[in-house]
Amino acid sequence: MRAEIIAIGNELTSGARLDTNSQWLSLELAELGIRVQYHTTIDDDLPALVAEMRSAVNRSDLVLITGGLGPTLDDLTRQAMAELAQVPLVLDVEQLAIIESMFSRRNRPMAERNRIQAMFPEGSEPISNPRGTAPGIWQQVGRKGQPEPCVLAAMPGVPSEMKRMFREEIRPRLPGGETVIRRARINCFGIGESDAEARLGELTARGREPEIGITVHEATITLRINAHGPTEEACQAQIEQARREIHERMGTLVFSEEDDELQHVVIRQLAAAGLTLATAECGTGGLLAERLTDVENYEAAYRGGLVLTRDGAGWELLGIPSEQREAAGNEVAAGAMARGCREKFGTDFALAVTERPAYDVEQESGQVPALYLALAGENLLTVREQVLVGDAAIARSRAAKGVLDLLRRHLQQQDEQKTG
Ligand code: AMP
Ligand code: MG
Repeated sequence: MRAEIIAIGNELTSGARLDTNSQWLSLELAELGIRVQYHTTIDDDLPALVAEMRSAVNRSDLVLITGGLGPTLDDLTRQAMAELAQVPLVLDVEQLAIIESMFSRRNRPMAERNRIQAMFPEGSEPISNPRGTAPGIWQQVGRKGQPEPCVLAAMPGVPSEMKRMFREEIRPRLPGGETVIRRARINCFGIGESDAEARLGELTARGREPEIGITVHEATITLRINAHGPTEEACQAQIEQARREIHERMGTLVFSEEDDELQHVVIRQLAAAGLTLATAECGTGGLLAERLTDVENYEAAYRGGLVLTRDGAGWELLGIPSEQREAAGNEVAAGAMARGCREKFGTDFALAVTERPAYDVEQESGQVPALYLALAGENLLTVREQVLVGDAAIARSRAAKGVLDLLRRHLQQQDEQKTG
């Protein structure tokens, strides 16, 4: 079954409001195993609506429509549906009585123009709407050369009314369960998108089952698995197979699934091993501390951090004299920050992020600007360079992630050594 969604309203095409109905409906249809091929957003214009509905009917078996069912002159969905089927709009006395009683219960007179909401394309069926005055419309339209008619279901634009009507009235009428769709997301860090694609090879090829897509957000690579199958179990088996193949190819680059971020993983690893962490960061505005403190029950593992500015007093607090910091350059300063931080906070590990002080000078000299990430532990100091490319906010986010990833990998390695 091929489905599509049409969202109607000037407020949508003008940009005043975002079409959230189509997104919601697509997710609902996916649960039923119905694939959506088109989202169309269209303004309140009768010829355009009719033309669009005509194309939809010819290419899809189910067309869900939202918006344009109100009583005002600009609401034209019912007129378009009548014109599409080349039938008149006829009054439904039962629906008129329901609408009238709604007004009288609220002690309000019904305006004459509300009558239009009780008018339906001949041959269609009203769909009840206890939350508002606009009933929906269920209409079947025949098409050339196809034995089955196309089903159009029009619902109000108001999201709460639309959702209720879909769940209570429309969904039970749909042929659910032909195919089930299940999704999973696997998150990786520490590699570029094109390298990831190269490693994954044919796994991400189009038309494969399950489908695997790659998206990148601030250096986190997310592999999205979409499995289609006759049953939930069939989908889960496909996902499990894909998961195994992804782990084989990506190895330790894989750090989590679904919404788990690096900070969640690191806090969990530390808590499981009874270890503690502190941070010192410069040039990130405290982003690293912010991420760590966003994790539930972080306190046992994360013991605090310092946010430094290039010329502020934080360096002295960490026991790094300014001459040393400047003379030594930032690669060394990053290490000194991590070591000093670990000592001052008395933790098992410390992470440090630093901005290179001679940033401007370097740019002038044509050198690629970079910042440094450091991990200090007992008999351990790892410093990594991160070349600065792109937007400053993204560079900060990458730095916070990159330094967390240093610790994640270290803890994972330790764990593997322990368990053999
Ligand atoms: P209508 O049914 O066209 O009178 O729409 C009523 C109200 O519902 C509009 O003013 C919008 O605020 C909201 N609305 C309509 N269509 C959508 C949509 N596709 N997504 C989100 N909100 C919508
Ligand atoms: Mg409207």
